[in-house]
Amino acid sequence: MYNSKSKIAEEFINHDEILKTIEYAKQNKDNAELIDSILKKASKFEGLDHTEVAVLLESEDKETIAKIHETAAKIKEHIYGNRIVMFAPLYLSNYCINECRYCGYHHSNKEMTRKKLTQEEIKKEVIALQDMGHKRLALELGEDPENSSLEYLLESIKTIYSVKHKNGEIRRVNVNIAAASVEDYLKLKEAGIGTYILFQETYNKDTYGYMHPKGPKHNYAYHTEAMDRAMEAGLDDVGIGVLLGLHDDYHYDAVGMMLHVKHLEDTFGVGPHTMSFPRIRAASDVEMSQYTGITDEKFYNLVAIFRLAVPYTGIIISTRETMESRADLLKLGVSQLSGGSCTGVGGYDEMAKLEKANTSQFDVEDHRTLDEITLDLAKNGYIPSFCTACYREGRTGDRFMALAKVGQIGNVCQPNALLTLQEYLMDYASPETKEIGEKVIRDQAQKIPNPEMKQKTAQWLERIKNGERDFRV
Ligand code: SF4
Ligand code: SF4
Repeated sequence: MYNSKSKIAEEFINHDEILKTIEYAKQNKDNAELIDSILKKASKFEGLDHTEVAVLLESEDKETIAKIHETAAKIKEHIYGNRIVMFAPLYLSNYCINECRYCGYHHSNKEMTRKKLTQEEIKKEVIALQDMGHKRLALELGEDPENSSLEYLLESIKTIYSVKHKNGEIRRVNVNIAAASVEDYLKLKEAGIGTYILFQETYNKDTYGYMHPKGPKHNYAYHTEAMDRAMEAGLDDVGIGVLLGLHDDYHYDAVGMMLHVKHLEDTFGVGPHTMSFPRIRAASDVEMSQYTGITDEKFYNLVAIFRLAVPYTGIIISTRETMESRADLLKLGVSQLSGGSCTGVGGYDEMAKLEKANTSQFDVEDHRTLDEITLDLAKNGYIPSFCTACYREGRTGDRFMALAKVGQIGNVCQPNALLTLQEYLMDYASPETKEIGEKVIRDQAQKIPNPEMKQKTAQWLERIKNGERDFRV
């Protein structure tokens, strides 16, 4: 039976509830009055529940879809302005004991060159990432207690935070590791991580079982209940996601994801910090013909509907998407982008790049450098932000949400975005990016509404130009 506050996976992600919701949505897909009331609710930044999301997803009416996109753009503008937070993934190890059918790292893949970075190699990767201008990383590693143990991860986090090259430093390390125990999450908390990320892949238990035939990840309940254990350990910034294309009906996963959000909100008082919707991509030793894709049109609609549903949760799009798709998705609600990404182990360091073997988890579609992405964003009126302030100021979990839900977060995001962009321009940008970026900063600094904050930001921007770093609100 469905119970959003239950601790049992199959009760808070309830199969019958999902099917019932989809059925109701199908019956109401042309219910203009209902759709209108849902859109009105969304435009007041009140978010939507799983039934309302399902109803919007069913709509095929062009006018309704246009209204959904319009509302998403309005919410995006109101809450996130034109700021886009930048990050990069860092792959530490591709050893994995699981057999996920869709992932190039699956244990039995003999084509994969296995690699685990040493602490010295991690330092080189971090220097390469710092030299690109990154301040925020998402660590990725396969599940393997022997080759990628928690101790190894903790040591690596320490190494990453310790590297200070020229003006560079990594200020926020987000971590994407397999479902773990409360004790292990406590250790991650102590290590000072930003967001703990774990994708559900699919909420459908049967598909989940089929896609994860062997290894610890096969355990649906342990995986689905992972965020509860993370929250219990005090990791209150969590990132969830589904891999679109695994389950043949993406509506199922969309409703499942909304039930997960509700469960976290009802149980811990705080929903996910970020959401991701990667679409499945070709990978080494993966038979792609078994997966149903999702068209660009449907995918964009899904992202827009989630912008309506969870206005205060960041939406992340990785380099799995093409440059063109990412540009469209930014308008519909995406607030974080990875840039200059390498999805192999040891790919950032120049020497390693030359010797690069097959170590990638999946194929990348957007191959632009971080500078090229920064330039394109700035040219299109966005503020590329390298901000990491909230976690460092203790604004996580409900403290973050309290600020976000009363519309106050923008007051800190805007100055922080400008300050970190100024650092990027001084230390890493090409002359063209610097020129356009400076113009963006000049224009946007004028628009900071609070006079005190405006003045403070102007002073800090000058001090950054004179060589000081790391001002934050
Ligand atoms: Fe391992 Fe994760 Fe790939 Fe599964 S998805 S094979 S757990 S790295
Ligand atoms: Fe993110 Fe906080 Fe920085 Fe805003 S101020 S961009 S919410 S870290």
